[in-house]
Amino acid sequence: MNQTSSAKNSISDDIHIGVGKEENSIRRLIEMNLIEKRFIDNRSLYVCQWHDCSYSTIRSDSIVRHSRSHTGERPYKCHLCDYSTIQSSSLKKHMARHLNT
Ligand SMILES: [Zn+2]
Ligand SMILES: [Zn+2]
Repeated sequence: MNQTSSAKNSISDDIHIGVGKEENSIRRLIEMNLIEKRFIDNRSLYVCQWHDCSYSTIRSDSIVRHSRSHTGERPYKCHLCDYSTIQSSSLKKHMARHLNT
């Protein structure tokens, strides 16, 4: 049995493995409803869901960087702990947790 399946050819395809981190960021941003991924003409388009923002791009690195400019601010802060969020609804949910204790 000498089946050395030389998968050397596929190595070059793995070069863009650095995108993996971005994929994680994007998944998180989608979970937080900060961005939306749409498919237009078989291409993925990332649309910023921030209120009063209509930014959209096909570049994953651009949308990650862009939404960072939003999340870096986090205007809704808890005055009982150091929790901060970018969505008022999240803060409301968080404050309810304080009230319950
Ligand atoms: Zn935006
Ligand atoms: Zn808190």
